[in-house]
Amino acid sequence: MFGRTSRRMHPSTDAPADAAQADKSEPATIEPLVKPVAPKKSSVDDLFAKLRAAGAETVASSVKTTKVKPTKATPTKSADKPAKPIAPIKPDAKLFEQRETALLPINEAVTKKIKRVLADEENSMLNYLQSKKAQVALEKVLPSVENQLQTYVESTSKELIEAAMSGAQSLSKSLKSDLRKKVSNTTVMQVMTKKLADEIVYPLRERIQKCVETSAGDAAEMSTLIRGVYREWKMQQVDKIVGDISRLAYSRGAYLVLESGTKVCWMVDPDGPPCADAEDNSLAGEVACGEKFPTGHEHPVIHSGCKCLVIPAPR
Ligand SMILES: [Zn+2]
Repeated sequence: MFGRTSRRMHPSTDAPADAAQADKSEPATIEPLVKPVAPKKSSVDDLFAKLRAAGAETVASSVKTTKVKPTKATPTKSADKPAKPIAPIKPDAKLFEQRETALLPINEAVTKKIKRVLADEENSMLNYLQSKKAQVALEKVLPSVENQLQTYVESTSKELIEAAMSGAQSLSKSLKSDLRKKVSNTTVMQVMTKKLADEIVYPLRERIQKCVETSAGDAAEMSTLIRGVYREWKMQQVDKIVGDISRLAYSRGAYLVLESGTKVCWMVDPDGPPCADAEDNSLAGEVACGEKFPTGHEHPVIHSGCKCLVIPAPR
């Protein structure tokens, strides 16, 4: 119904766990969009392969979208012992300042890179639409999820690894080259790829899909709507999410250099937005590195604007 079908579709592979989620009760036209296609050969192919091999579980263990609501019984195992109130660790302003200083130039660079990718994406869509008089289908306008995501991953990975290394150096005095072995591209970008998908690719695709639906396939109207969406993303949305992205990378890097089993605490930044989940994690007291805090996370960020940190427990 959307005109030419002769254009060869990419062979679809197994859908990632998130694909089903992104595909709410939308019409059948979205289906090809949320199925990843064979990615073009590039340096991150390996990463994607590992991501697929690892499955959603590994990634989800670090960044969960569905929060595990702590029951009333947590955070204290009070069944046999009288409940001993755990004082949350006192926030250390220096640690938060140190992070902000480290992430300032990174945020600037990541913002620029993401905006450039958005602009390129917008241009290629508008160029395509300009040449079309007839009805246009969504899958002709949008790149595949995997290719789109790959572009964001590739363009930001250098800075995000830098953010992770800053986090690593905040907790370890080891040589940078030694830290870099633990803060590998895969261990960082596996988590960051999911974040970039959740923060940018999926919400953006949802918006574009609405443009296509609203315009009922009319190329001119679609162009106007799409331009509006990208304007909003470039002017507002990127600035809203970039901090969460870089803080996740920072916390990921810090977490990666902690020895497994080290006692860690969840520290809430008093300057961050109030968050009950963060309080729960903080009240859990000391948790062995490798185990999860009450919300099911190993480290921040766990909510929009989350400025929490995980640090080794004071002795
Ligand atoms: Zn938080």
